[in-house]
Amino acid sequence: MRNDAVTRATFDQVMVPNYNPQAMVPVRGEGVRVWDQDGCEYIDLAGGIAVNALGHCHPRLVAALKEQANKLWHLSNVFTNEPALRLAKQLTEATFADKVFFCNSGAEANEAAFKLVRKYAYDHVGPEKHEIISFNQSFHGRTLFTVSVGGQKKYREGFEPVPAGITHVPFNDIDALKAVISDKTCAVVMEPIQGEGGIIPADPEFARQVRELCDQHNALLVFDEIQTGVGRTGELYAYMGLGVTPDILTSAKALGGGFPVGAMLVSDKVAGSFGFGTHGSTYGGNPLACAVAGEAIEIINDRALLDGVKQKHQQFVEGLQAINAKHAIFSEIRGKGLLIGAELVEAWHGKAAQFLAAARDEGLMLLVAGPNVLRMAPSLVIGDADIAEGLARLERAVAKTLANA
Ligand SMILES: *Cc1c(COP(=O)(O)O)cnc(C)c1O
Repeated sequence: MRNDAVTRATFDQVMVPNYNPQAMVPVRGEGVRVWDQDGCEYIDLAGGIAVNALGHCHPRLVAALKEQANKLWHLSNVFTNEPALRLAKQLTEATFADKVFFCNSGAEANEAAFKLVRKYAYDHVGPEKHEIISFNQSFHGRTLFTVSVGGQKKYREGFEPVPAGITHVPFNDIDALKAVISDKTCAVVMEPIQGEGGIIPADPEFARQVRELCDQHNALLVFDEIQTGVGRTGELYAYMGLGVTPDILTSAKALGGGFPVGAMLVSDKVAGSFGFGTHGSTYGGNPLACAVAGEAIEIINDRALLDGVKQKHQQFVEGLQAINAKHAIFSEIRGKGLLIGAELVEAWHGKAAQFLAAARDEGLMLLVAGPNVLRMAPSLVIGDADIAEGLARLERAVAKTLANA
């Protein structure tokens, strides 16, 4: 039974159809290369959706995982453990945060943050201060609370009733925020760069004014850095480049370099509202996850590596511009560091997924961000030759997609 052959067709037989994976089944990865069941090779510019920040099977992450695997796998939070304590020290030393809460995914980190902002307001003001403001097109995860705070209606539809007291306003529009923020607002939640929403960076002046409005109304500012964090933008966290410090920051995706882990980073001011027994997670702070994440942070929080991310950004943008000069397919190239979005020209809106299939045929793993934007979120240590080869494959995929239209 365990040895029965499994293929893409097996997915449709035994998996809930909430995903529609590509036709091939990857079986092995090394750096930015991946091989499928048929031995075909791919260049991975998807990075597991901004997760595999050091590529596949980075030797130091493999070593950290193996070392911990021979020591201790799991304890629960009835006991603490060394890898979790070390990772919390690394994260608090490297950021604004004084305290850390660990969990297993991005949605869980946001769930903790959204519960904490309500609890903090409840403790310090009262239950009427419970309103959360977030932005249209934002994405914060797939639990009921996180789809409610997220600004994309399609993720809520059919799941109502959803939690109340949440307002959405246009992103990068400070007047829209001014019109709804009040002393009943307990928090404003934003991504420094909207990821799933189409790679839309926050205007730094907008972010600065959001911080000011939060302070005026005694509301907390939550940065969802699940996609932008851990070196992705060329800073350890994107807030550092933006020059605006949140009260709460959520991190996941790249934090474990491919091992599931999430974290909520907070200032001392707010940490106290999660007193003993108020929140928890059985797996949160798991020693295997924290050992790998500790090693990932150790490698990534390095000025030379982070400067490299900024240089690679330039290479990608120049390569995408060259593709555009030939094919006139992109209306805008956006993003920071190695979180890059190329919006398709109007005639191709709604058809971004077609490029994914064409890319796969050319040996390239690519992402979309919504129906109109091609997205790349590769390894932060991708080499120059792999960038060039990846872009060459992308150009062939673009040419073929256009030729077949
Ligand atoms: C991916 C993502 C999430 C959800 O993370 P999961 O690990 O899938 O739960 C939340 N917020 C942002 C900005 C993300 O990119």
